[in-house]
Amino acid sequence: MSIRVTSFASGSSGNALLVRTPGAAFLVDCGIPQRTLERFLARDGLCPADLSAILLTHEHGDHTQCAGPFARRHGLPIIANRPTLDALGVALDGVATREIGVGSGALLGDCAITSFRVSHDAAAPVGYTLRAGGWTVGVAIDLGCWDDEVVHGLSCADLIVLEANHDREKLHAAPYTWPIKQRIFGALGHLDNVDAGSLLARLACDGRKRTAWLAHLSEQANSPGLATRVVQNVLSLAGARPVTVAALPRRTPMCWDSDTHLAQLSLFD
Ligand SMILES: [Zn+2]
Ligand SMILES: [Zn+2]
Repeated sequence: MSIRVTSFASGSSGNALLVRTPGAAFLVDCGIPQRTLERFLARDGLCPADLSAILLTHEHGDHTQCAGPFARRHGLPIIANRPTLDALGVALDGVATREIGVGSGALLGDCAITSFRVSHDAAAPVGYTLRAGGWTVGVAIDLGCWDDEVVHGLSCADLIVLEANHDREKLHAAPYTWPIKQRIFGALGHLDNVDAGSLLARLACDGRKRTAWLAHLSEQANSPGLATRVVQNVLSLAGARPVTVAALPRRTPMCWDSDTHLAQLSLFD
């Protein structure tokens, strides 16, 4: 049994992940236009009716832009914690909702979902651990810092989708106002490349082979090449076992399949 994850979009202009197991297909976040979403689903051989739900990490628009309209149009339930559902308010009118409390779990088809708290300036932002068929995917996007709860949430993951938002020097030089920079740098903002690498190095202490997707890269203060290089350097300095690191494209789908995970990783042995 396998688990397959496709990133449709990643970054401040929109985020959406498709997760497929033999018994479930659902989105984690839904922050891209409906037509784009439908086109990407079709490329994966799916139509909206094949989805079982939309799972949300938090209420910010780049993660929820079309969640309400898309769910309403296709009769899909939205799953999130109560403060996040409340923050979305009328955007969810007419949509069936299901609640997973922060730190709690639920079953969606054959996929076990557990949420864990992350630090970000939203009502009750969470990451998720998704388990099916002996495989685990961990998602932590939009977090200003990490702690033992995040480490625990990602510790069993074969695929980790982790924010590596910015390079600190590039952010200092970026054309943002100081209050915006302070927000991004802050503990309730966004994770930088070095902190993402340090978290992956901490996780790598157990010697487990993993793939790490670097997510939510800033257009102004990061690049795929820089994020990957910095994270790989931090891992290497920490003497961490090989972790396959790849930066997610902003608007181009990228896929990970558990069936090919071990074959890909064996290249690094
Ligand atoms: Zn975001
Ligand atoms: Zn956010």
